[in-house]
Amino acid sequence: MQELVKLGEKTYVLLEHTNVGFYLAENNEVVVIDTGSSKDSAKLIDKVLGKNNWHLKCIVNTHSHADHMGGNAYLENKYNVNSYSSNMESFICNNPILEPSLLYSASPVKELKNHLLMAKPSHSLDINELDIPGIEVIDLKGHAIGQIGILTSDGVLFTGDAYTSTKILEKYAIQFNYDIEEYINTLDYLLTTDYKYYVPSHGEIEENCTNTVMINKETALKVEEYLLKILQEEKSFANLLSQVFTDYHITNNLMQYHLIGSTIKSFLTKLNNASKIEITVRNGEMYIKAI
Ligand SMILES: [Zn+2]
Repeated sequence: MQELVKLGEKTYVLLEHTNVGFYLAENNEVVVIDTGSSKDSAKLIDKVLGKNNWHLKCIVNTHSHADHMGGNAYLENKYNVNSYSSNMESFICNNPILEPSLLYSASPVKELKNHLLMAKPSHSLDINELDIPGIEVIDLKGHAIGQIGILTSDGVLFTGDAYTSTKILEKYAIQFNYDIEEYINTLDYLLTTDYKYYVPSHGEIEENCTNTVMINKETALKVEEYLLKILQEEKSFANLLSQVFTDYHITNNLMQYHLIGSTIKSFLTKLNNASKIEITVRNGEMYIKAI
């Protein structure tokens, strides 16, 4: 098990595949921020609780992706607690079929109903109903439809997947995003902040996230520029996606097809909103061209 890092009087982080936050509320009660991807990650969290004699008060999820709420069901059942997220993310946590359904835009094929895209259902409530002194909810939507960040009284901001580490970006320049426009707005917002520590779910704890956030923004804008460039010549969506797969060396499988396909569509929405592309349908194909 990775070490538990203390970031303030009441704030701790367990560095894992998905970093897990612990906020010490009153009476040795603890709020857990995200629960990793599975029952195994829930058991790791449980070990930390036991070792420190902490009692689980509730879970807060930054968003509903399976690698952030995969441990919810185990902990909720064991301790009879609820989890909380934004209204929208909470709804998906409770109805996890919506995650692959969003990607597939219909009842998803069985290959997409896997543990990476679909966790066990949670008992998640709207975080507006939660009042814990020392915890503040920050809107960080974009990566997911209603993603939130959690700011603790120690000045530690848990940013979920609002941005990712530069190491991951070097390997995978196209990061999944539901809404690229909001993703960039969120990055711009983060650049205006000055908290004590920033904890992304997949990345390093930093006192200053400016450089990492700037690289996230530049990487996304480069992808946008690349898309505009190759769309100077009209392309069907299928051809566009095929070229993206080749140029960015993306693994060919159904999951990547839908994750990257969805993200490219979110870039198209941004470009369309800015009147930089034109979208038409002919002979049952969607065509896109830069204006
Ligand atoms: Zn995510």
